[in-house]
Amino acid sequence: MTNITSSQTLNKLEEWVRQESHSSNLLDFYRSLLRIQAEVEERITIAKPELNEQTAFNRLVRGKPLLRFEDIITNWPTITDTFNRITAVFTDYGDLFGKVSELLLEEKWQKKLTKQIVRNWLEGKGLPATIASMEINPYLLDSLIHQALRPFLIRHSRVLINLVDREVWRRGSCFICNGQSDIGYLEKKVGARWLMCSRCDTEWHFQRLKCPYCGNQDSNSLSWFGDDDGVYRLYVCDRCHTYLKVVDLRNAKIEAFLPLERILTLDMDRQGQEKGYHPGYVQIENINTTLPK
Ligand SMILES: [Zn+2]
Ligand SMILES: [Zn+2]
Repeated sequence: MTNITSSQTLNKLEEWVRQESHSSNLLDFYRSLLRIQAEVEERITIAKPELNEQTAFNRLVRGKPLLRFEDIITNWPTITDTFNRITAVFTDYGDLFGKVSELLLEEKWQKKLTKQIVRNWLEGKGLPATIASMEINPYLLDSLIHQALRPFLIRHSRVLINLVDREVWRRGSCFICNGQSDIGYLEKKVGARWLMCSRCDTEWHFQRLKCPYCGNQDSNSLSWFGDDDGVYRLYVCDRCHTYLKVVDLRNAKIEAFLPLERILTLDMDRQGQEKGYHPGYVQIENINTTLPK
């Protein structure tokens, strides 16, 4: 399961909605997001990477992801335009996320997405002080940047992935874009655990008994909760208090489509959070913002 496009995810979601005759505000929100992301993803041009197979391999061996900030910003005007369109969707569905800050609607906010913010977000370094004075909920801010950058990262991933053998990589974060995983699967043959990047949908192999977020390997503080059918697992770490959603393909009756599972398993997120864990892919402690009063 690699190189899935946003357009394919949108089609799968539409198909699911038709089959299940199910509709909700939340699904409408995801359809709106995916429509923008699919359109952007198909429209943009990605330059040929400067890396060759050897330099790409060397980066992975040194623990460096392949995508650099400099590669991303070649599409800068489209990035800011996409960010503004994504912000508008979040504003339309403000009741899903608590009140979306009025600031998001103001033009001066829209001009606040700077290259430095994108660089920091991409590299997981926290956000610059200019944002800190604005009353933006950090989870919301992270989601806005995340959803706006996704089509670009997905396209870059498709170009870069063929340069390397992903078996070289055994780290918790994505070898293409440095993102964290929000969903994974146990593959059918031997139940090996694979993670999917929350940002660019790249997959990589990762140990089953290790927390991808803090590296914890102590079995006393790692566990999982399963559903009755043995298809879904919530892996939790009691050291960094995070959870990860995983689909066990050995027990899934139909072929699972992970970018759709990510959306359809939001109840697992609720369960994880009710148990006191937070989603490991959101690196919120790195975001230096002021919470709304
Ligand atoms: Zn990634
Ligand atoms: Zn952990």
